[in-house]
Amino acid sequence: MDYDLVVIGCGAGGLASAVAFAEEAGRDARIAVLERATREGRGGATRWTSSWFRITSDRQLDPAFVETMERVSKGQADLEYCRTLAAEVPATFDFLDRHKVPWVYFEQPFANRNTGGGLAMPVPGGVAIVDTLAAVIDGLPNAAIHYETEATSLATDAAGRVTGVHVRGPDGERLLSARAVVIACGGFEGAGDMLVEHLGPRGNEMPVIAPTLVNNRGDGIRLTRPLGGDVAGQFDMFHGEPVDTRSTKADAVIYGYPFGILVNRHCQRFFDEGQDSFDATFERLGYEIWANQEQQAWFIGEKAILDWPHVADIMLTDQPPVEAETIEGLAEKFGLDPQALAKTVAEYNAAIQPGETDRRIRDGKCTAGINPPKSNWATPVRQGPFIGYPLTTAITFTFGGIRSDAKARVLREDGTAIPGLFAAGEVTGLYYGEYPAGTSVLRALTFGRIAAREAAAKH
Ligand SMILES: Cc1cc2nc3c(=O)[nH]c(=O)nc-3n(C[C@H](O)[C@H](O)[C@H](O)COP(=O)(O)OP(=O)(O)OC[C@H]3O[C@@H](n4cnc5c(N)ncnc54)[C@H](O)[C@@H]3O)c2cc1C
Repeated sequence: MDYDLVVIGCGAGGLASAVAFAEEAGRDARIAVLERATREGRGGATRWTSSWFRITSDRQLDPAFVETMERVSKGQADLEYCRTLAAEVPATFDFLDRHKVPWVYFEQPFANRNTGGGLAMPVPGGVAIVDTLAAVIDGLPNAAIHYETEATSLATDAAGRVTGVHVRGPDGERLLSARAVVIACGGFEGAGDMLVEHLGPRGNEMPVIAPTLVNNRGDGIRLTRPLGGDVAGQFDMFHGEPVDTRSTKADAVIYGYPFGILVNRHCQRFFDEGQDSFDATFERLGYEIWANQEQQAWFIGEKAILDWPHVADIMLTDQPPVEAETIEGLAEKFGLDPQALAKTVAEYNAAIQPGETDRRIRDGKCTAGINPPKSNWATPVRQGPFIGYPLTTAITFTFGGIRSDAKARVLREDGTAIPGLFAAGEVTGLYYGEYPAGTSVLRALTFGRIAAREAAAKH
C-alpha cells in the first residue's frame, strides 16, 4: 500500500482533509494530495475567494441556516448534512486556529442576511487557507502535494472498495494505492461540455470568475459514475455573480448595485435592485443577467454614492467607473440609447417615495408605480456627475455534484456508501434553488475534517 490517504484536490476541502487526517492518524501518516494545477496555480476556487463565512460573533453558523436551506431548496437539500455542518462549524474554527490560519470577524457595514449582522473571513482571503494548510502538509514527514498530477480514475477491489487512484502527472500514468480516498476536486464550472449538458446551449457562455476554476471539470462525477455513484444538488442551477465586463481581475463583482439602478441593453430596468441586501440577491441577479438579459447589463448611479461609507469598497473591479456629467452622455459612452436611458432614469426618479436612505438596514425607501419596483434604498439618480459599470455574469460554482452523506461518505444510487471513498466541498451536490452565501468554503473545510475523521477510523 503506497498511502494511507490520497486526496484529490488542493482547495479548502482537500487540504482540510489532508491536515485533519494527519491529526487523526498521526504525523507519520502517508498522505498524497493531488493538484491538477502547478504549485503557483494551486488552490482551485479557494485560492481566489474572499471566503466570507456566514457566522455569528460567537463562531456559530448562521442559526437560520438549516431552515433557510429547507426553504430555498423546497425540502430537497439534505438537512442532516446541513445540521451536521451547523454543529461542526465551531470545531472548524478551532481547527483553523490550531493551524494558525488567520481570520477575522467584523460587523457588516451594510444590511445583510446573516443573523447578528456580521461576517468573518480569512485574512487576506481564501489564499490564506491554501497557503497555511499547504505549509502544514509540506512540514509532515510522509505527506506531499503532487502538482500537475490529475486523478483519472479510481481503482477498486472485487468487493467494490476503493483501493487507490490512477493518476497522470509529470512521471506519466501510475496507480497510487491507498487505504482511503477523499474526492475534493470542485464542481464542473470548468467543463464546457457539462455546462452545456446541464444548463443548456448557452451554458458555456459565461466567463469563470477566477482563472483556476478551469481546472474544476466535474471529475468527481466522472470518477464515481463507473462505481454506481449517485448525484445530488440542482444540476441546471449555478452560483454566478455580476462582474465588471471590462475587468480581467478575479472576483470583479459590483456589489453596490442596490445604490443605483440596473438596466438592460434596451435601457429598461429588469430587476428590483433593492429587493433585499446584496448578499441575498447577487446570485439571483447573476442568473437573471445570464438567462434573460443576453448576458449584459449596466449599473447607473450618481457618482456621489462612492463617497458613502464603504460603498466604493464593494465595487471590487480594478477598473474606474465610466463617468459623465449627464445621463445621456453616460449612455453614449456605453453605446446605449441616450433618450431611452434618460426616460428610464426620469421615471425611476419620479417614482421614489419619501423617506430616509440607510444602507445599514432594509430601509423601506421604495418606489411606487413602476415595474419592477425598487423596494429599498431608492435614492435618486438625478445629480451629475453620473457613473456606470457594464456588467456580465461570471460563473462561480455549480450546484450539482456527487451525493455524500453527513459522514462525508460517497453514496451509490442504491443509497449504500462506497467503501473507502469520501468527499468534501463543492464536488458534493447540496444546493437547490439558491445558495445561502458564505457557506461554501465552510462546508468544504468542515466536511474535509469529517472525511478525514471517517477515513482515519477505517484506517
Ligand atoms: C471569486 C470567488 C469568490 C467566492 N466567494 C465565496 C465566499 O465569499 N464565501 C464562500 O463560502 N465561498 C465563496 N466562493 C466559493 C468557494 O470559494 C468554493 O466553493 C470553495 O472554495 C470550494 O472549495 P473546494 O475545496 O471544494 O474546491 P476548490 O477550492 O475549487 O479546489 C478544487 C481542487 O481540485 C483540483 N482538481 C480538480 N480536478 C482534479 C483532478 N482530476 N485531479 C487533481 N486535482 C483536481 C483543482 O485544481 C483544485 O485544486 C467563491 C469562489 C470564487 C471563485
